[in-house]
Amino acid sequence: MTLADEALRTLLEGNERFAETESTHPRLTLDRRRQLLGGQRPFAVVLGCSDSRVPPELLFDQGLGDLFVVRTAGHVLGRAALESIEYAVSHLGTPLVLVLAHSDCGAVAATVAARNTAPGEMSCLVSEILPAVEEASALTGDLVNNASKIHARRTVDLLRSESFALKEMERSGRGAAVPAFYDLETGRVEILTG
Ligand SMILES: [Zn+2]
Repeated sequence: MTLADEALRTLLEGNERFAETESTHPRLTLDRRRQLLGGQRPFAVVLGCSDSRVPPELLFDQGLGDLFVVRTAGHVLGRAALESIEYAVSHLGTPLVLVLAHSDCGAVAATVAARNTAPGEMSCLVSEILPAVEEASALTGDLVNNASKIHARRTVDLLRSESFALKEMERSGRGAAVPAFYDLETGRVEILTG
């Protein structure tokens, strides 16, 4: 099992505890705080939405020093977010980058509502999410949730094309980037494969 597989398993086990309301809130002790004075070695990066209902440490039942979290509305990847992720991959040796979309995402819903706006008048967030909304328009089912899932996959692809550090990490087998989707109703995170 690779470090990325192991990291993913730890996240999903924590999410299972959370979904079952059996969170253990690990590694929040004074000892842990003291241990981390020597530096951090987070086992996963989570790029997620700023939505107050999707805090990664709680959804995955993890503690201090476990997750390197980057959050923007609709988990849109700008330069600052990209460089933050690269810092974790290159300098902290974090082997997993999880891009976490979620159901009922306001940023994606706003993009659906604004899709016929003139390009020059679109906000940066909307124009970044728009290709996923357009792709999802051809599918049956919930447009916002389908678009969120596509947007997570596209964000992983974008990371691979924009970040040499991430591409190198995957190429060498040191780590992986994975898209995922959190369901507000069930509390469960699904890995988006294929
Ligand atoms: Zn959202």
